[in-house]
Amino acid sequence: MAQVTLRKVVKKYDEVLAVRGIDLDISDKEFIVLVGPSGCGKSTTLRMIAGLEEISGGDIAIGGHVVNDVPPKDRDIAMVFQNYALYPHMNVYENMSFGLKLKKTPKDVIDHKVGHAAGILGLAPYLERYPRQLSGGQRQRVAMGRAIVRDPQVFLFDEPLSNLDAKLRVQMRSEIRELHQRLKTTTVYVTHDQIEAMTMADKIVVMREGRISQVGAPLDLYDRPANLFVAGFIGSPAMNLIEGEIGPGQVFKAETFDLALPTGAGRQGQPSLELGRKVTLGFRPEHLQLAQTGIPAEVVVVEPTGSETHVLARTGKREIVAVFRERHGFKPGDKVMLAPDPAVIHLFDTQSALRIDLPQ
Ligand code: ADP
Repeated sequence: MAQVTLRKVVKKYDEVLAVRGIDLDISDKEFIVLVGPSGCGKSTTLRMIAGLEEISGGDIAIGGHVVNDVPPKDRDIAMVFQNYALYPHMNVYENMSFGLKLKKTPKDVIDHKVGHAAGILGLAPYLERYPRQLSGGQRQRVAMGRAIVRDPQVFLFDEPLSNLDAKLRVQMRSEIRELHQRLKTTTVYVTHDQIEAMTMADKIVVMREGRISQVGAPLDLYDRPANLFVAGFIGSPAMNLIEGEIGPGQVFKAETFDLALPTGAGRQGQPSLELGRKVTLGFRPEHLQLAQTGIPAEVVVVEPTGSETHVLARTGKREIVAVFRERHGFKPGDKVMLAPDPAVIHLFDTQSALRIDLPQ
């Protein structure tokens, strides 16, 4: 069993509180992604699990054993870095076998393990090549191969795809995912890219300023963000967030429009939607439609991507984004009326930033 548990984990670098008390349960065989903006503490958290950073407080357990004082080499983990960290003077075979050699693994076992990993990763034809003779994607595969041959309890990935071009990133994303389906090794993966998180994770951990903002399955976070930060962070283009207040008769009132909230909103033990309460309405760009009534807006920028068109429009002092799959032929300056689908709107308390559940 290789579950990983973090209890009240803290990291302080002199004055900087990089990680402010994290509790996290990672199940055996789970693929978990730590995601968040730069500086939120993702890498520090991963490096503490790896043992590359000492923890300033709390406990980390791997496979049920507290490893706070266990050196990295004895934690039975394998880490894959953004810069691959390959040895330039060693060929692919030597790079992949180096760790096993250090552990005095017999040559035939090494050959078998390297051959097996090279087969999985499509590296068999390249075993004699040196890193400089490989493409970025192949180098990344060698780095993964080096992790695989160690047959660790846990894989740790630190932004492993950041150095690759967009197309290769998409390809490697599915390769890593496929690898996990095959090996089922518990994996902790760090990225700042929410699309990578959405597409790869069994469970996403959204971090912000050294804390966990929300943990959940990708679509749970997408469908029910717990707060304004996750609402704005998960999803691309980002969710539209418009500040307003509650008007008479359960209506959301903003600068340029009113929107009736589903009846029963704010009941069932929820904080009441009392008149005048400051709330923020959230609606995703793909949940906007052209309508007779709704949000009056003026088209500012039209971005066709081929499969869909992103329309940036201004309503009052705010800009909102709509995504259309159909081709409307909008031009800047066009006046449009956009209506959010009421079944999938989100509401947040503006002051606390917390989600207010609406009846479905
Ligand atoms: P992320 O991976 O989310 O971008 P990091 O975990 O690298 O964030 O960093 C979290 C915070 O800790 C940042 O404010 C960063 O500046 C700080 N930090 C990271 N490493 C060090 C270090 N070695 N010394 C001092 N501060 C650090």
